[in-house]
Amino acid sequence: MNQHAPVSSIAFIDLEAQRHRLGRAIDDAVGRVLTHCQFINGPEVGQLEAELAAFCGAKHVVSCASGTDALLMVLMAKNIGPGDAVICPSFTFCATAEVVALAGATPVFVDVDEATFNIDIASLVRGIAAARKTGLKPKAIIPVDLFGQSADHDGVAEVARAEGLFVLDDAAQSFGATFKGQKLGTLADATTTSFFPAKPLGCYGDGGAIFTDNDELAQTLRSIRVHGQGSDKYDNVRLGLTARLDTVQAAVLREKLKIFDDEIAARDVVAERYAQALGNIVDVPRLMAGNTSTWAQYTVRVPGGHRAALAAALKARGVPTAIYYPKPLHRQTAYRHFPVAADGLPVSERLSGEVLSLPMHAYLDEPTQARIIAAVGDAMAEIA
Ligand SMILES: *Cc1c(COP(=O)(O)O)cnc(C)c1O
Repeated sequence: MNQHAPVSSIAFIDLEAQRHRLGRAIDDAVGRVLTHCQFINGPEVGQLEAELAAFCGAKHVVSCASGTDALLMVLMAKNIGPGDAVICPSFTFCATAEVVALAGATPVFVDVDEATFNIDIASLVRGIAAARKTGLKPKAIIPVDLFGQSADHDGVAEVARAEGLFVLDDAAQSFGATFKGQKLGTLADATTTSFFPAKPLGCYGDGGAIFTDNDELAQTLRSIRVHGQGSDKYDNVRLGLTARLDTVQAAVLREKLKIFDDEIAARDVVAERYAQALGNIVDVPRLMAGNTSTWAQYTVRVPGGHRAALAAALKARGVPTAIYYPKPLHRQTAYRHFPVAADGLPVSERLSGEVLSLPMHAYLDEPTQARIIAAVGDAMAEIA
């Protein structure tokens, strides 16, 4: 605890409150694993996969060790590698593009939409052209459903169909969200998510999953997950990884999945209160018509160069904030040599200078949120 905080400190994401709510259920679930001792591929892993499939409507769920492994495994399964281009937005977490480079392929960065922060379809088309122009073979698109909101999957699918590209949806932040009434997990050729503790559905360590309706792809992914195994463990038919989800994490996730719908509804209430109270003070997030969000982050825009001042003023008032993301990937040292869509990525660059994420979780009670809202109002009155 910071003894200089003027008032009791506010959590940015409150994992303790959720832990308290789940109480004995989690202890018992973990205790059962400690009793049966099947730490790898225990019964909870298959049970969780079936429950996740039922939750989102995907035919196959392949659990794995992280959201990053999930993305990499799909690229490996599709034999995407040197000479291939994978188009992805620049305004995202680095893992989206990192896996493309790790697979030996080339990430080609495109811009995002000003309102939703998700992949811009016109820029996507320009990115595919840029890839071809540099002699690369476009193979796949990785749209990202950023901050909990679904990308424009109709727009992406139309371009993918016309260009013959595979769509790998990075839903690390947005599993549980819907696009036109359909849950993410079913809107692309393959969808991945992350169970990192701070994600809307998080475990107590690292974890991830892949969703697909494609039987052959699911079978290949199950092989890649265990060193490319064939008919048995010591039959190696391809290169793979050690990318299994631990049984303990599956047991934790099964308990958390039971309250996930309820938590998403609670996050929606928090988002609605923010939108009502802050809509005239900062630029609040907007959902595309037909979208629901899991509100992985509640990210506002602070134009006019006032972001740093607002973050500092909030910190002084005991309100934590975060910047996702301070630099678009095409400006990062590790990624700036990769191609970008013609006309540049002005929206990604503008957003990285203006975004600020406020505390958001399912257990943010009204009095605490009122304190945050008042702090934003007071700070902005001081600054602007
Ligand atoms: C968190 C995240 C990932 C990676 O997930 P890990 O489980 O941490 O490997 C990938 N993409 C996006 C957009 C993310 O937010």
